[in-house]
Amino acid sequence: MRIPLVAGNWKMHTVRQEAITLAEAIARAVSGLSAAVEVTLCPPFVFLEPVRQALADTPVQLGAQNVHPEPEGAFTGEISVPMLASVGCRYVIVGHSERRQYFGETDAWIARKVRAVLQGGLRPILCVGERLEERQAGRARQVVQAQLEGALDGLSEEALPELVIAYEPVWAIGTGQNATPQQAQEMHGFIRSWMRARWGSKADSVRLLYGGSLKPDNAAALFRQPDVDGGLVGGASLKASSFLAIVEAAIGVSSQGGEA
Ligand code: PEP
Repeated sequence: MRIPLVAGNWKMHTVRQEAITLAEAIARAVSGLSAAVEVTLCPPFVFLEPVRQALADTPVQLGAQNVHPEPEGAFTGEISVPMLASVGCRYVIVGHSERRQYFGETDAWIARKVRAVLQGGLRPILCVGERLEERQAGRARQVVQAQLEGALDGLSEEALPELVIAYEPVWAIGTGQNATPQQAQEMHGFIRSWMRARWGSKADSVRLLYGGSLKPDNAAALFRQPDVDGGLVGGASLKASSFLAIVEAAIGVSSQGGEA
């Protein structure tokens, strides 16, 4: 059984006190909920430490938005896996579409990050997803398959329980236009079959998150899909009330057993 995961990606938002206040509000509320879901917050790097303190002794975990694949070295401005581990990170977002689009990250580069995160004992949240024109051209599966092959080929099956994949159609990110539950399940089912073809039933331990304009009013319908194991939340994670409503939707669906 896969425990749902709801991860908040704060991107380049908040200043110090806003980050602390937001983390405290979320941590307080999640501490009062049942443990049927994992929750993680991914603040900007500079706020990892104060957010770690705000989350101390609560079930909410800390995550980072990016990482460099080398453990240390002359890479000015970069942050390594051992650094993230040393400030208490459990998860690292890897290959977000904004990093692919604005920072030129390639599948080969992302593959190095996935391996570095796993070797460092943390959990990668690998983002994949097609652009609008690729979907319109009927190439969505092909694009996602190439991203999966590029980032995960050769990964050993022992790593699978630590791996999280987020399907984030680029046309749904920050646009207010989420994938329908059917579109999400169709792609999540495809990703699951791709993994099963490589790793057999071990692939069933990998959590597949949906991301892209997740909101309190669409979360439950998306989370009810059998291969949607939670969400990666951008905009709606910047307000405690909307993020918590999404967490509660995940708990509600998992306590009903989803549609599976
Ligand atoms: C994201 O950036 O990962 C994301 C899903 O953003 P939003 O929820 O704002 O669409």
